[in-house]
Amino acid sequence: MSPYLDLPPLSAAEFAAIEDQVAALLHTEADVIVTQGEALLPLEAAIRGAAHPGSTALNIVTGPYGQTFGNWLRSCGAHVVDLAAPFDGAVSAAQVAEALEANPGIDFVSLVHAEAATGNTNPVAGIGAVVREHGALLMLDAVASVAAEPLLTDAWGVDLCVIGGQKAMGGPAGVSAVSVSERAWERIAANPAAPRRSYLSLLDWKERWTDAGRTVLPHAPAQLEMLALGACLDRIAADGLSAVIARHRAASAATRAGVRALGTLSPFVHEDAHAAPVATTLRTPDGVDATALAARLDPALPVQPGGGALAGSMLRVNHYGPAASLETVRACLDALAAATGADPAPALTAADAAWGAAV
Ligand SMILES: *Cc1c(COP(=O)(O)O)cnc(C)c1O
Repeated sequence: MSPYLDLPPLSAAEFAAIEDQVAALLHTEADVIVTQGEALLPLEAAIRGAAHPGSTALNIVTGPYGQTFGNWLRSCGAHVVDLAAPFDGAVSAAQVAEALEANPGIDFVSLVHAEAATGNTNPVAGIGAVVREHGALLMLDAVASVAAEPLLTDAWGVDLCVIGGQKAMGGPAGVSAVSVSERAWERIAANPAAPRRSYLSLLDWKERWTDAGRTVLPHAPAQLEMLALGACLDRIAADGLSAVIARHRAASAATRAGVRALGTLSPFVHEDAHAAPVATTLRTPDGVDATALAARLDPALPVQPGGGALAGSMLRVNHYGPAASLETVRACLDALAAATGADPAPALTAADAAWGAAV
């Protein structure tokens, strides 16, 4: 008997209940669509729904995903203003306000909340306020922040909030979700270039599912992934969202404190306030190759080298989901101490103290 086989079909009511659980997690009253694919699907769908020739987008780049969004926006024919901030910090609301003032035609803003790849996180509340005042739509990639840090979609004025289950939620990667505000629906409906009769069409889902009363699914859902998403939402509800968030914040604080005590590596993101709770990125010393160092560690540990150009100089400790635990942080610090010839004892003591202070 396999728990994965011979399952009864997922009902429309079960599907709708999972959407409602996601809406609660995102603190939104807006429509939520649980998209049947990895999070890049709703991110691309949101951009193609809103952008068009003649629109101007502010694309905030604080890591690799921002570059992807810029390419999609340009391929939609939008004029793109890139606001790039160093990957080891965050963008400020003042910088965003300045870019909006300099380009009054901006009608769409894309922003990543937490960047798992570079370990930084952006102050969405303040940025959302200036974007709302300007009148542009705000799309937020919250894949790496949901369940790791507060995410107040409606209060922050986020029009399109995209999440995936595979990071702090400890869930599946094969389904994802997007919340769509009333303003965003109006803009997408008015966009002649928005996808229709397409797998990328949010409007199709609105017409065939959301507005139709959510009683008949438009096509067969990714059943196993939906069951896994439902299970991980139930687990977050049982543990308490604030406890899950606290675990991630503590993992970040303990990793950063431990690494500073090691002395051989240093946090890549300078300020604690800009550090993502989902992953801690580390700078290797000059002459120490991060990919070679990572290869010497126990592959069961959630440590990997940075991607692309950062593969030589960055390590990434992915303390999310079940890895957001003191035990995992200690195991990573122990291994990093051994691999860099440092004494683990001060790092472990510092990590224990930081964890205790954060939970
Ligand atoms: C992980 C992540 C995603 C999902 O993309 P994958 O490359 O498939 O993991 C999207 N956005 C952000 C910010 C992420 O951290």
